[in-house]
Amino acid sequence: MTTIKISQEEVNAELDRLTDQTVLCRNLDHQWDEVPASHMDPPEPGFYWECVRCIRCTTTRTSLIVADTGDRAKGLRYKWPEGYKSSVKLTKSEMRREWALRQQYITETKAPRRTKKKPQRGSTTRRK
Ligand SMILES: [Zn+2]
Repeated sequence: MTTIKISQEEVNAELDRLTDQTVLCRNLDHQWDEVPASHMDPPEPGFYWECVRCIRCTTTRTSLIVADTGDRAKGLRYKWPEGYKSSVKLTKSEMRREWALRQQYITETKAPRRTKKKPQRGSTTRRK
């Protein structure tokens, strides 16, 4: 089994790149609202498209639904906005910590995060 070491600097750089909306959605999951499916090719008779979009980060989720049963005919398809996906794998804990730091920073400074110096993160960690 190959072990890939990711430095804390790489993790921090990736976290810095993420927007507040992305950090929120990756912590709390998306906030879905329906969107018209008119941009989709019409499905076969007996099916319909279920299309939703996150009102925070604009990710879209599409699913083909069996009209009679409401079951999903295929898996969910996602389309994420540019910059949503990470090139460096981030853990749930790292995402939670990042969100907490941003919340704390906004509360303490009453200012958007990017206008002042960055909050300090914890010490270096290594993982597989
Ligand atoms: Zn979202």
